[in-house]
Amino acid sequence: MKILVVGSGGREHALAWKLAQSERIQMVYVAPGNGGTARDARLVNVNITDLHELANFVEQEHISLTVVGPETPLAGGIVNLFRARGLKVFGPTKEAAQLESSKDFAKAFMQRHGIPTAKYQTFSDVAQAHAYIDANGAPIVIKADGLAAGKGVVVAMSLEEAHQAVDDMLADNRFGDAGARIVIEEFLAGEEASFIVMCDGKNILPLATSQDHKRLKDNDEGPNTGGMGAYSPAPIVTPAMHARVMREIINPTIAGMAKDGIVFTGFLYAGLMIDAQGNPRTLEFNCRMGDPETQPIMSRLKTDLVAVMEHAVNGTLDQVELEWDRRTAVGVVLAAAGYPDAPLKGAVIEGIPAETPESVTFHAGTAEVGGQLQVTGGRVLCVVGLGDSVKLAQKQAYETVDQISFDGMQCRRDIGWRGLKH
Ligand code: ATP
Repeated sequence: MKILVVGSGGREHALAWKLAQSERIQMVYVAPGNGGTARDARLVNVNITDLHELANFVEQEHISLTVVGPETPLAGGIVNLFRARGLKVFGPTKEAAQLESSKDFAKAFMQRHGIPTAKYQTFSDVAQAHAYIDANGAPIVIKADGLAAGKGVVVAMSLEEAHQAVDDMLADNRFGDAGARIVIEEFLAGEEASFIVMCDGKNILPLATSQDHKRLKDNDEGPNTGGMGAYSPAPIVTPAMHARVMREIINPTIAGMAKDGIVFTGFLYAGLMIDAQGNPRTLEFNCRMGDPETQPIMSRLKTDLVAVMEHAVNGTLDQVELEWDRRTAVGVVLAAAGYPDAPLKGAVIEGIPAETPESVTFHAGTAEVGGQLQVTGGRVLCVVGLGDSVKLAQKQAYETVDQISFDGMQCRRDIGWRGLKH
């Protein structure tokens, strides 16, 4: 069979890589893909981003199933469009994707359905937003309502920073329409974890847990990024915590959507903050896999992903039991010079070693240019190492990282540090 993966990041490379391992696969197309999916003989890049043209392509090529990676086409209604044309697709509808595409929608939804999250209020008026900050004090968190590629959140440690963020988003329109409304919420302290499940409309199938590293620099310093590395599993999510998150967050979310008249299909990602007392609260929802969490998670998945996806689009996920590699996977992102503010393109990438059972390198912002592999975006590669402990997986990942080079390459040297602590 033929499958299409929509997207161009490391997440999509990892999904396509895993799908292509299935014996039943004849071809995995990636639209538009990257330098890594171009190099893999089992994958074919398709240079189409327009959703109608993609649907035409799927019809022409008799593609059995489409898996959507990023949020933008989901929020743009790719699932609604494909379904209307009778095409099988795994992802949430545009209505369901509002859990991610509007923070105001997500917060109101959580409040309505009693899902634990930070206290908040939504504003479009600058003066009222400033007054709320003065009344509540710092630290406090300011978020653009709409999609801002992970850059629309300011965790303000001081009142000055908080007021500045309000001015940037509401007065100066820094995020355009996405920042025309803002959510201001209570600062939550604790340890974060990524909790991702698949949902077919009725059945919920949890994936392995993971933990992202949002800050650019070691020790969680520097600006927020799209994610500088992730590892799986996350030891903070003990079996008891897992059961609690399912009971208090995931099940009520899927049930709450149904009550509101929205059938949820696709990946549901709850970004959790677990406080010192061990109480999980929801920081955010994403309606897709995380990037870079997908890279270590797919590196550990043993079950045939094609079969899982078929069950997911046919509403039979209750028949699936996932099998995971017992090892830990640590994924280290290699980013371009200037990332996250102004990534520099064009550097030549050298030294990516061949995949082994202990290490695999997924591409993101790369392209083949005249036989050379070049940097084309902020996050360039994600190197995954596997090992019997966090420490061994980390060692494996950095041994691979140290073979790779490009001008201005940035990476954290401490991915997995919280896992070492547990
Ligand atoms: P992405 O698109 O990268 O998933 P996002 O733009 O949807 O991110 P959030 O995940 O809501 O933004 O926030 C980004 C980060 O900011 C979180 O991972 C967390 O580290 C921090 N953060 C968000 N909300 C809070 C909060 N209430 N208290 C403390 N930190 C927070």
